[in-house]
Amino acid sequence: MKLKLLPSTFDQNGGYSPGQHLTTFLIDGRVALDAGSLAMAASESDRALVRDIVLTHAHLDHIAGLPLFVDDLFASLTEPIRVHATREVFEVLERDVFNWSVYPRFSELNNENGPVLEYRLFTLGSEFSIGHLNFRSIPVDHKVPSSGFIIDDGNAAIAFSGDTSSSSAFWEKVNERDDLKAVLIECAFPDRMSALAEASHHLTPAILRAQLDLLKIDAEVCVINIKPMYRDEVINELAETIGRGFEIIEPIREYHF
Ligand SMILES: [Zn+2]
Repeated sequence: MKLKLLPSTFDQNGGYSPGQHLTTFLIDGRVALDAGSLAMAASESDRALVRDIVLTHAHLDHIAGLPLFVDDLFASLTEPIRVHATREVFEVLERDVFNWSVYPRFSELNNENGPVLEYRLFTLGSEFSIGHLNFRSIPVDHKVPSSGFIIDDGNAAIAFSGDTSSSSAFWEKVNERDDLKAVLIECAFPDRMSALAEASHHLTPAILRAQLDLLKIDAEVCVINIKPMYRDEVINELAETIGRGFEIIEPIREYHF
């Protein structure tokens, strides 16, 4: 399985930088996991191949690129873009984003080939397939209804937390799969901001350290979704406190599992 984080911040020369404002992971170049930076950072080949988008939740940093991605492709689509989301996320998108005030309601629009946007609803905890990829939703504990996933391509499987705070349910499901190659887990804030992390249902290095005590299988730990303003601080704290090997997922680099 190939995984790539699309970039969402820039350096002073206009190139991408490692800070992650927005979340979009491309799986095998075809399926987008969240759509935060999808329109802005997708290459031409990404634009040609990605027709399925799986959403963890409806926070802006995970959906910001979705309306623009559909807009970019509107005239050229020969099949609809399929958004895989829970009913809660679907309702937020249709009510608060694709409401004609913020952006057009693409689910009601066709191009000359037919519909341009379709929803495929899943329930938290359910399983669904997109091509060769199987997704098992895992409810996580975030400020809004949110899903993590176990993603399996038939050869390898990984777990992906999305945004979450402490979640014993997530680790229970992870531990059921001793074949997992990696667990991608968020760590949004540094420890000094633990009150905000708690209020917004995110992790800090100290909380993540305690969560990793619940990890009973031998999988690589990969950290994602660090708030860009605190990135260096969080990475330094992780190195001091985490007590095990870990990797920070960088944009553009292709990870093979
Ligand atoms: Zn969130």
